[in-house]
Amino acid sequence: MPEKFDVIVVGAGPAGTSCAYTCAKNGLNVLLIERGEYPGAKNVMGGVLYRQQMEELIPDFWKEAPLERPVIEQRFWMMDKESVLSFGYKGLEWGVEPYNNFTVLRAQFDQWFAKKAVEAGALLITETVVTECIVEDGKVVGVRTDRPDGEVFADVVVLADGVNSLLSKQLGFHKEFRPDEVALTVMEVVNLPKDKINDRFNLEDNQGCTIEIFGDSTKGNLGTAFLYTNKESLNIGVGTTLSSMIKAKMKPYELLDYLKNHPMVKPFIAGGESAEYLAHLIPEGGYRSVPKVAGNGVIVVGDAAQLVNAIHREGSNMAMHSGLLAAETVIEAHRLGNFSQSMLNNYREALYNSFIIKDLEKYKDAAHTFEKYPQYFKEYVPMMNQAASKFFTVDGTPKRDKQKQIIKNMTSQRGTLRVLQDLYRAWKAVK
Ligand SMILES: Cc1cc2nc3c(=O)[nH]c(=O)nc-3n(C[C@H](O)[C@H](O)[C@H](O)COP(=O)(O)OP(=O)(O)OC[C@H]3O[C@@H](n4cnc5c(N)ncnc54)[C@H](O)[C@@H]3O)c2cc1C
Repeated sequence: MPEKFDVIVVGAGPAGTSCAYTCAKNGLNVLLIERGEYPGAKNVMGGVLYRQQMEELIPDFWKEAPLERPVIEQRFWMMDKESVLSFGYKGLEWGVEPYNNFTVLRAQFDQWFAKKAVEAGALLITETVVTECIVEDGKVVGVRTDRPDGEVFADVVVLADGVNSLLSKQLGFHKEFRPDEVALTVMEVVNLPKDKINDRFNLEDNQGCTIEIFGDSTKGNLGTAFLYTNKESLNIGVGTTLSSMIKAKMKPYELLDYLKNHPMVKPFIAGGESAEYLAHLIPEGGYRSVPKVAGNGVIVVGDAAQLVNAIHREGSNMAMHSGLLAAETVIEAHRLGNFSQSMLNNYREALYNSFIIKDLEKYKDAAHTFEKYPQYFKEYVPMMNQAASKFFTVDGTPKRDKQKQIIKNMTSQRGTLRVLQDLYRAWKAVK
């Protein structure tokens, strides 16, 4: 191993690999360090990978990457105990090039992606934990690993070590995240024959469907559940913020059991065989939780920088794009021979001018609002289900009278003024 690299990237998830791939492709001497047995071995994702940000890195990647199904339908469920109010979009245009997004299994996808970085010239070492950054005269100059003689040096270290990012915490870039800034999600991969998946989700081969489930999926707490189709398996999972979990004294695995046995969900997974059980944190603090992302000789990308848009379940794409922006700054820094914080802050500027921070800024109050005012998931989801049931039940009542009854029910349960306040608050949180 050479003693000094142009850049060391810690973590071979989407953020780190994107950065390593781009730097290596541009002729930099790159070391990519991953603690897992192989990239993806420990990585967890509901499974939706977005085409746009991946294509920016590797055009036509879908022709060779290990993908599951292109998603042609996205459903959203407002679920009560014995009912579901659903809406969504299905479009055949998403099933053909250039596609919108795909379901993936991270253990396969991350390996393939890291192989691309290696082919571009990066050196990948696995089963190696970076224990700390080496700091000299206020500048990060390399990393210490758990290998014997495990010190390695570089002009720039890119921290792509995921949600906990112990390394950027050691540097003082952020404190321990609060329980309302992270969601704990548990998921299972359930094997099911392809034909059963196609029948149950109304799909053909090579067509995928995603369902996001709100309301009773988390027993009315802030959070969401998901059910996604792979080729011959389903990903089913559920998560809430740690603070909600603590407040409601919920155990994550009990919540997943509850979801799997819910009468609206059970038929989809019936007869399936549980193949894998996974748990992971998601950084959901949003705009206000984004830490310092650049220092002297160091840059932070992906989940380590809290770059997740929980409302739109976007994380992997933000990770990849931040990795690309970081690489562009590192390449320029290398050209100028300047690795100071002021130079590397070009990455911060690019990040804040990109869709990533713009989207996080748009939803900066959403999680806080929905956590502070639990009525949205606890009261309105059941009310909306009751209203739909009433409206669509044919019982001889004139429709105008039904409408009046529905509005009366809603306002008598919460009061007209409070309903109007709730509507205004929700609109403000997502506008
Ligand atoms: C249950 C769940 C469902 C999700 N669903 C979606 C979805 O459908 N779509 C979506 O876009 N996003 C989703 N996300 C979010 C998405 O998974 C993340 O945003 C994305 O993986 C972030 O990529 P990353 O590279 O920053 O971090 P990670 O993917 O976490 O990668 C970090 C890497 O760093 C390695 N590492 C950590 N510490 C060290 C160390 N000290 N030394 C060496 N290596 C280290 C880890 O082993 C890992 O490989 C989901 C997340 C979860 C948990």
